[in-house]
Amino acid sequence: MERLQKIIAQAGVTSRRKAEALIQEGKVKVNGSVVTELGTKVSPHDKIEVNNIPIEREEPVYFLFYKPTGVISAVSDDKGRKVVTDFFHNVNERIFPIGRLDYDTSGVLLLTNDGEFANMLMHPRYNVDKEYIVKVAGIPTKQTLRALERGVRLEDGKTAPAVATLISSDRQKNTAIISLTIHEGRNRQVRRMLEAVGHKVLKLKRERYAFLTVRAMQPGDYRQLKPHEVKRLR
Ligand code: URA
Repeated sequence: MERLQKIIAQAGVTSRRKAEALIQEGKVKVNGSVVTELGTKVSPHDKIEVNNIPIEREEPVYFLFYKPTGVISAVSDDKGRKVVTDFFHNVNERIFPIGRLDYDTSGVLLLTNDGEFANMLMHPRYNVDKEYIVKVAGIPTKQTLRALERGVRLEDGKTAPAVATLISSDRQKNTAIISLTIHEGRNRQVRRMLEAVGHKVLKLKRERYAFLTVRAMQPGDYRQLKPHEVKRLR
C-alpha cells in the first residue's frame, strides 16, 4: 500500500506537492469515488483517476545506460534518428531518460518510469555530481582550469563552483583531456563553459553521475540499478 499522492507523482502526472493539491481540490478518484484525504493509501489494484483520466500504473524500474554517441536522449524522434530507448529489449515499462546528454556525448545516463524520482534528481537543489571527461582543442592553463572552477559567465548566468583538472595533454596535436565535475545540468553546459574559456570540445563523455559509472560497460550496454543504489540516490 502506498500513499495516493506518491502513486500519482510516480506515474509522472505531476509533482507530489501538486498531486496533494489535486487531491484536496477533489480532482482525484479512487475506484470511482472522489477522495480528498491526503493520507489515503492505495493498493496496486485500485483504479486511480486524475481529472477523470485513469493513470497508468507500473512497477517503478531504474536503469543505468552507457549512452553511445550518435543517439538522441529521448524516447522518439520525428527525424527517425536512433533514440536511447531503442537499446532496451524486453523492457515493457514506459521508461524515459532522466535529463539528457547531447547527441554527440557518450556516457552515464539513467532511465526510469518513475516520474517523481526523475524530477527529484533533475531539481537544481538536488546537486548531483556529474563528472565529464573532455577532450579539448588547445591545452588549458592552470588559470583557465581555476576559472572553470570559480564559474564562467554564460548567457544564462554564471556557472556554480566546479572541479577541473588536467588529465593529460598532447603538445604535438595541441589537445588535452580534462576532468570537469559540475553540479548543475544546464543545456550544453560543459561545451558552453569550455567555449567561454576558448577551448573547443572535441569529445565529451559523462564519466560519473553521483556514484554511478559505466567503467565496466560497453557503449549501448545497460543494467538495472540495484535497490541499494536507488536508495542511495534518493
Ligand atoms: N554538457 C554538455 O555540453 N553536453 C552534454 O551532453 C552534457 C553536459
